[in-house]
Amino acid sequence: MLNIIMCGAPGSGKGTQSDRIVEKYQLTHLSTGDLLRKEIASGSEIGSQLNAIVSRGDLVPDEIIIDMLASHIDALGANCKGVIFDGFPRNVAQAEALEKMLAERGLSTSVLLDMQVEQDELIARLLNRGKLSGRSDDNMETIQQRLLVYEQKTKPVSDFYNSLGKYQAINGMGTMDEIFARIDEVLKAF
Ligand code: AMP
Repeated sequence: MLNIIMCGAPGSGKGTQSDRIVEKYQLTHLSTGDLLRKEIASGSEIGSQLNAIVSRGDLVPDEIIIDMLASHIDALGANCKGVIFDGFPRNVAQAEALEKMLAERGLSTSVLLDMQVEQDELIARLLNRGKLSGRSDDNMETIQQRLLVYEQKTKPVSDFYNSLGKYQAINGMGTMDEIFARIDEVLKAF
């Protein structure tokens, strides 16, 4: 199985490029942000608690995310060609939990793709997306907090996978086609 982690700051194009990878490589896309937004939209009790955290730009507690993901991994069919983990792991504890979860199922991560985009470009993309999607966390105040959380908690995830020899930086500036071509070049090797 080709199991990819899409890592990068908010607005770095993880979701957009994941869709393209899924199309070409027929992988299963697991986006923890999408799963959380679905739970929030359902109007459940837990959804409203999650909404408060996501709207602040903070991370949802690890246990909630890890349980949510484990149930989706267990639901993968025998024909699954691989998974794209989009927006997960967001910290080193989640990375360790993912590796344990995969190892227990005889699986492993193939590579972490680190989408690298300049800060001004990230902010411009997120503000633009906020206008189009109406996402509650794509406003200036929450964006600043999300970028801070990324620097402090998520960046060390790249070091963790680098130490496992499973790290690949991707230049995330340019057109969607240019960026996908760079990703495709890396994935061809697997
Ligand atoms: P995303 O769609 O990946 O940008 O995620 C949007 C928001 O959902 C984040 O700012 C967090 O509040 C929450 N979130 C998504 N993935 C995770 C995760 N793996 N761990 C904790 N919180 C998460």
